[in-house]
Amino acid sequence: MSLDSIDRVAVLGAGNMGHGITEVTAMGGYDVTMRDIKSEFVEDGYESIEWSLQKLEEKELIDESADEVLSRIDTTTDLEEAVADADLVIEAAPEDLDLKHDIFTDLEEYTTEDTLLATNTSSLPISDIAEAVDTPERVLGLHFFNPPVKMDLVEVIYGEDTSDEAAEAGYEWVESVGKTPIYVRKDVRGFVVNTIVGPFGGEPAFMVSNGEATIREADATMAHERGYPMGPFELADLTGIDVGYHVRKEGDSPIPPITEEKVEAEELGQKTGKGFYDYEDGDGADYEPEDAGDFDWLRVEARMINRAAFLVGEDVATPEEVDTGVQLGLGFPEGICRRADKIGLDKVLEKLEELYEETGEDRFEPHPYLEELVAEGKTGEDAGAGFYDYGDAELGPYHDLNYDLEDGLLAIELDRPSRMNALSNDLLAEIDDLLTSVDTDEVRCVTIEGAGDRAFSAGADISGFGDTDPADMMDVTPAFETVNDFPRPVLAKIDGFCLGGGLELALACDLRIATERSSFGAPEIGLGLIPGGGGTQRLTRILGETRAKELVFRGNHIDADRAEDWGLINRSVERDDFDATVEEFVDDLHSGPPIGLKVAKKVMNEGQDASLDAALAMESQGFGLLISTDDVLEGTAAFAEDREPEFEGE
Ligand code: NAD
Repeated sequence: MSLDSIDRVAVLGAGNMGHGITEVTAMGGYDVTMRDIKSEFVEDGYESIEWSLQKLEEKELIDESADEVLSRIDTTTDLEEAVADADLVIEAAPEDLDLKHDIFTDLEEYTTEDTLLATNTSSLPISDIAEAVDTPERVLGLHFFNPPVKMDLVEVIYGEDTSDEAAEAGYEWVESVGKTPIYVRKDVRGFVVNTIVGPFGGEPAFMVSNGEATIREADATMAHERGYPMGPFELADLTGIDVGYHVRKEGDSPIPPITEEKVEAEELGQKTGKGFYDYEDGDGADYEPEDAGDFDWLRVEARMINRAAFLVGEDVATPEEVDTGVQLGLGFPEGICRRADKIGLDKVLEKLEELYEETGEDRFEPHPYLEELVAEGKTGEDAGAGFYDYGDAELGPYHDLNYDLEDGLLAIELDRPSRMNALSNDLLAEIDDLLTSVDTDEVRCVTIEGAGDRAFSAGADISGFGDTDPADMMDVTPAFETVNDFPRPVLAKIDGFCLGGGLELALACDLRIATERSSFGAPEIGLGLIPGGGGTQRLTRILGETRAKELVFRGNHIDADRAEDWGLINRSVERDDFDATVEEFVDDLHSGPPIGLKVAKKVMNEGQDASLDAALAMESQGFGLLISTDDVLEGTAAFAEDREPEFEGE
């Protein structure tokens, strides 16, 4: 059982998840058969796939045509026909253990022992489902998120008997369809993501039930002050209050009275027109930043962190996996383990102990792993270790970017994939800090790219605007100037959206290479704003006034080919050629003379703001300075000897 042996996939169920998983599978290049119990269900699912693929084609988000992807999809109502030749079966039938048992019993009959069997269950134990087959080692969970086409994360879950071979094959397959897998190494209820999200909704509901907070305070604090994509009550209204209620009930977890009341009154959220907010006669979730009051957010985050301690302490997942899970699966602004290390694990533990003592409620009982970390002095970032180890890092720690400095190449990755790498103040401060703290003698060239597969950066993080003093926003963003002035060449690797602040960051780089599917734009005008990170000025210098004004005034996107035509980027290349093209550029920059490149960058940047005479004088000065360097001696010697020069930067 390995990825090499997966050619054909069968998806059982053409509902919400099944048709989405089928689409993702076909987009990943696999032949796939989608099966449901009635032809009308299959047809509905297929039509949804057709519609979605057409949209993706229109937006140029797929490399091939919708028809080409569709040609890899077969449909049937016959189980045996669907799975007989499949190397991987993904079951996405309704959440009912008996039904899933029946399906897996049939799979035992119709598949061979080499077929990997996966279930997309959200809440049933994988091990219980696997009981239906004689070879449970080939059964695993592949938990996609809704909607599968958009959501990057897939949890790869071990049942009690799942073999490493099966889990690894599932993991590699998920990567091969362009999604991000995380292992869930034990079959725990809620897996990773839903384990963490439980207290996000549950604790505020208890607090409101106890009269310790209001709905608006909770939502305003969590969304506007703590950066979550929405408040817990708004989220409950969106997903359905009954959904969370049933999950708690099935898990034998205590149910907050306010949740019980809403379910009894059949006020289930948006779908019934009323839930915690009123969507018919009221304005829906209309909380504002000023509603936040002094809501005790630490109580909510401490409980989520306690759950993270359970997952890490019981070897269900690593801190990195937990953090990837909550960022990609829930859109959290940063990983919960990272956040815990920032807050201080001692403070988190103290909060839990206090609440446990006060209430005696089990949900506040600190997990031994959290106690252990604190007892060992691993209280987080300030102590040099917590969930993560910060001890050896010479730079940082950074939360919103990753960097790797190896052999002179400083590769920076903007790491907020759940927000399409939107530039928050924290992320900008980290870029600035990294480039001002790194030893430039160690760097020959810098690349900047975005994490995930959707964007370089889709803009500034507008959610941060509300808390920012307008006077601060009128300052030139230091990060962009730091990139612009960094004394080594900086190359932007753009794959996907490059908009607003993201475009401004790319403009501050020296060179820009993009995949053909990328799109560029300065949409700020649509918000009543103007580009604020040098966009109006650098765009004009790079494109000339005519084209710059078109981008800024109209606020539209342009595609990579037009961007190349206009001179906004150096190359627009097919995705398959992207890495190779970047590598060619990086090789030249990396092996070039560091001082020569530094001087060239400086005089070319500064010369733009000077008169021609002054700029030419700068150039002569630079030229004179270089003449006396060892690099010039090496360059001329290598030329005479017909060999590649080896510049030392001296
Ligand atoms: P759904 O009701 O939209 O679709 C289920 C489909 O399965 C229906 O079309 C149904 O006719 C079909 N079906 C019933 N019996 C079948 C059988 N024997 N063989 C094949 N198909 C059969 O449900 P959904 O939301 O797509 O959920 C499917 C699974 O995915 C569940 O286990 C659910 O817990 C899980 N899941 C759901 C979500 C979500 O947000 N909806 C997210 C992650 C996981």
